[in-house]
Amino acid sequence: MKKIIISLLILFAYAMGSASAQEPDTLDFRHEMNEIEDEADSVMMLVRPIDTVDTEDKYIKIVLFNDHTWDYIELERPDIDTTGLFEDWDIESIHAYRDVKVSDLPESIDLLLVDSAHRFVAPFTGRRSSTFKYRKGRPHNGVDLPLRVGDTIRSPFDGVVRYVGGGKSTGGYGNLIVIRHPNGLETYYGHLSERLVMENDLVSAGEPIGLGGSTGRSTGPHLHFETRYMGKPFDPERVIDFDNGTLRDTMLTLKRHYFNVGSHYGMSDKQSKSVTSAVYYKVKKGDTLGKIAKQHHTTVNAICKLNGITPKKVLRIGQRLRVR
Ligand SMILES: [Zn+2]
Repeated sequence: MKKIIISLLILFAYAMGSASAQEPDTLDFRHEMNEIEDEADSVMMLVRPIDTVDTEDKYIKIVLFNDHTWDYIELERPDIDTTGLFEDWDIESIHAYRDVKVSDLPESIDLLLVDSAHRFVAPFTGRRSSTFKYRKGRPHNGVDLPLRVGDTIRSPFDGVVRYVGGGKSTGGYGNLIVIRHPNGLETYYGHLSERLVMENDLVSAGEPIGLGGSTGRSTGPHLHFETRYMGKPFDPERVIDFDNGTLRDTMLTLKRHYFNVGSHYGMSDKQSKSVTSAVYYKVKKGDTLGKIAKQHHTTVNAICKLNGITPKKVLRIGQRLRVR
């Protein structure tokens, strides 16, 4: 089978070579393949490929020849190390590792993002309309990148599609794709108008996986992009500089205190740890600063300092106040 494939590739190269009159290249190539040249020689003047057809496996194509024959050619598959990649593999649930708590994670984890054989391509480049933070008292677990409906979204690294969903099953995410990368990192793509991949599909860095849209809980076309490790979200801006479409670094060091919506890129470790130990309180009807301070064994002044407000500030029901 391999010999047939090589012969076909020679035929293909020869046909392309004579068409574009790239004689020296063609000759060199044929010289290297000397031992099988004879076999190809007998048919190369008669048969030439006229078309290729996709198969279910995107790495196998069917080549059609002008004598009405055909054969398979196998394209080079991405070299993805799948050791440990399928741990807690779940194509039914949006989030994997649901039994793991942040406190179960190691203090610090090093993830190699790219090397000489594995590249990075920005999933989408542009300004951010929202970042990784608490938004109206709810965690916003990713970054939002405004786009036009139909813009191409690409896989940033090689990986395997773990989850594809849409409609009611994904809640606010709308059409959602989750990709697991070989280092265990997962990337999430929400609000898509089209999903171009299926569960368990192998994808390489830069491959289109979906088209941007505004499905789910969305006020306008944008990509909601998340990065998670062991199911736990952290600020995607720790990985990607979205303004320039580049990686921050080839290696990502994840500290346990990063897995908190209050911890974001650009903070010192001291700041990040302090927000992780922070305690928040959601203001209810009838609450006053004095009442909240008493409940949490602290003072009005301390709460005002933590939240950057004055004691005269009018509290809003549902507002989140940091109390510790
Ligand atoms: Zn979002």
